[in-house]
Amino acid sequence: MSVSYSLGQDSEVARRSWLRRYCDALGVASLKDLESRCTRALLRAIAETGNPSKLPIRLAPVLDRFQICRHIEAIVSGWASEVEGFGVPPSLFDEAGCRFVRGGHEGEIYYNERLGQFVIRIRQPCAARDRNRLRFTFAHEVAHRLFFVSEGNRWVRAVVRVSEELPEEFRTQARWYLGRVEEKLCNRIARRVLIPDTLLATVWPVDRWFAEEKRFADELLHNAAVFGVSPITLLVRLKDVSRPVRETGHFAVWACARYGERGLSPWPTARIITGFGPERVGDTSVPWYPGLDLHSRWPLVADLVRGQITSGRLEGHFALTVSQRSGTAIQWEGWWRAMPSARNQAETALLLWGRLRVAGHNGVPRVGRSTNNSTGEAGD
Ligand SMILES: [Zn+2]
Repeated sequence: MSVSYSLGQDSEVARRSWLRRYCDALGVASLKDLESRCTRALLRAIAETGNPSKLPIRLAPVLDRFQICRHIEAIVSGWASEVEGFGVPPSLFDEAGCRFVRGGHEGEIYYNERLGQFVIRIRQPCAARDRNRLRFTFAHEVAHRLFFVSEGNRWVRAVVRVSEELPEEFRTQARWYLGRVEEKLCNRIARRVLIPDTLLATVWPVDRWFAEEKRFADELLHNAAVFGVSPITLLVRLKDVSRPVRETGHFAVWACARYGERGLSPWPTARIITGFGPERVGDTSVPWYPGLDLHSRWPLVADLVRGQITSGRLEGHFALTVSQRSGTAIQWEGWWRAMPSARNQAETALLLWGRLRVAGHNGVPRVGRSTNNSTGEAGD
């Protein structure tokens, strides 16, 4: 092979070349094509095996079409159960005495040569794990199935084939890089399959939700339940389709706040996990994470993080002014609500939504205070 790879300043060139090989192996022109092709294939199969507008979307009926075994394996050895209901059997949660693999990956799919089928493994969840998150993991693993290529009478991952064709010194890096690309694509495909564009347009007229202003969180939670996904999954999905909202200055973000971890860090942290909103307001760019330092600018977040506000339904109105380097200040104004964090009980999740506007050009940072207190009552 005459192509020479050298990472460092040429790493971008190398990555592009790996991506090229990856797309070639999968028979697509680009990653965008790959995402659309996989999404379409799954949605078409769903439409052909049942009522495509029935929510929540179920993937169990389409498994045969993709040569995926109807038995799910847990990521603990020697345990399997029949697929039923929404895809993963409830017994997977209930099985007592089953060994629990702590800290393992959420799921995986592999080609089982003996069965001549793909087999999905799902990490056995702890009691608090929610069903919707598991549905997402399952859809993500089904999406991975479409990233295998046939080789004789078996199937191998395109990532593995491509990286094995490279000179030895680049294999690990290429596999890691392409693996990350694939993870992101599978997440996107899972979201687009569980929350299809067509249904989103009818079930979720985004601008109407914002018109409801304070009720946005209720709408998000309600519709997440209708789609059978977690609210954060729905919020991430909305980024793809929320252009009209972006243009009106509306935003919705999911932030996570935590106070240290096992006492290791004495500092509270709050970071925006995901969300959407305008990138610019007027001629000023919006300070998204890491530009928006929530906990130091907003005392209520600091209180939440320190655990001083821990129970009840917590929500309220807030106004937060963030000064830009340019001297322009942007006001974030709207509502917040503390949400359950499925991922980590040490974290407090916050949903913030509302509207952004230019607040002035004085260049003096001002800190907004929440207009409600810690009693858990909504302020207006
Ligand atoms: Zn994955």
